Amino acid sequence: AIDLACENICKHFSEFTAVDNVSFTIPQGSFFSILGPSGCGKTTLLRMLAGFESPTSGDILIKNKSVLDVPPNKRPINMVFQHLALFPTMNIEQNIGYGLRRQGVAKAEIAERVAAVLKRVGLPDSGKKRVDQLSGGQRQRIALARCLVLNPTLLLLDEPLGALDLKLREQMKIELKQLQKEFGTTFVYITHDQSEALVMSDQIAVMNQGKFEQVGTPHELYYQPKTAFVASFVGDTNRWSGVVKSSVNQEDHQTQYQVTTNDGLTLDCVSQSSDIPVSSNVDVFVRPEAITVSLSAMDNCLENQLECQVENILFDGAKSQIIAIDKQSGGCITAAMPQTADFMGLKAGDAVYLSFSAKQALS
Ligand code: ADP
Ligand code: MG
Repeated sequence: AIDLACENICKHFSEFTAVDNVSFTIPQGSFFSILGPSGCGKTTLLRMLAGFESPTSGDILIKNKSVLDVPPNKRPINMVFQHLALFPTMNIEQNIGYGLRRQGVAKAEIAERVAAVLKRVGLPDSGKKRVDQLSGGQRQRIALARCLVLNPTLLLLDEPLGALDLKLREQMKIELKQLQKEFGTTFVYITHDQSEALVMSDQIAVMNQGKFEQVGTPHELYYQPKTAFVASFVGDTNRWSGVVKSSVNQEDHQTQYQVTTNDGLTLDCVSQSSDIPVSSNVDVFVRPEAITVSLSAMDNCLENQLECQVENILFDGAKSQIIAIDKQSGGCITAAMPQTADFMGLKAGDAVYLSFSAKQALS
């Protein structure tokens, strides 16, 4: 079942187009993220879903009914804001029960539902506590509980983890996803942080300058980016622009082709598309972790092998990034390896060979 459908939504602020002809659907019970840089129109889109803002044109349907004429408080939607906005003068129980009291739900039922939701977010004994007695992570869970207790069809979340420190953010990512699955509520989650979106989402829409560039699963966006923007915004990537020199269609609908890059390299590539015409312009993307680093040239090498000189090595704990200059073209290439580069005795100035298979060259 489809919970939400947006059809050709536009929002203009006088001359400026904040949201530019966006269409998408969200199936019931899924975690849908809108990922894009600051200023690309994410909050404006969310505010239209919530009803705080009207689209200039287009339609918004919830469970197949247009909600354009429905005021915010009558839509089956709740919103968690960037700054949690718990009421500091109310205790936790009162905070969570606030929406139910406004709906005129009977006292006994409120108490029951508040207790149940507190248990489900793992804070069964904190109903009488004050907001300032809770940690950042606990407040986050209470902010969610306050929305989830109302059983909304859609829960909208506008960068809710933005204010938390790194460690807590990592932990809350996992908790948020877990709570979403348990409650089965449809989440629309806004973020500019690609790792948040990749970890939690069933589907991600990548947004840029008011438009959706691509909607897909985390896997699809990472391995089959449709635009240069998606390839560079979702994950790190090397990128070469060039011209197709030769192109051969395979039986399995793949195309094997060779690209001469603008900086003079020849790259072997494979695409799932059967339409890669000779002389067309293409961008080739290679993920840093798809590149193999070796100290000497390999005879039985992967299709692409570049002789390079190490310029810099960046170790961040989980991996080493090797920044190298390609000797033939002078271009800069980043490779990533899951262990420290010291293990190979690698240092700046060393000669290395960077190789990757044609299959790893996305375009
Ligand atoms: P994001 O949430 O992705 O950072 P916003 O939706 O907040 O982006 O803003 C998108 C663009 O629309 C920005 O350039 C912002 O300045 C502009 N904008 C947002 N709201 C208004 C408004 N009420 N009037 C004029 N411009 C606005
Ligand atoms: Mg915003």
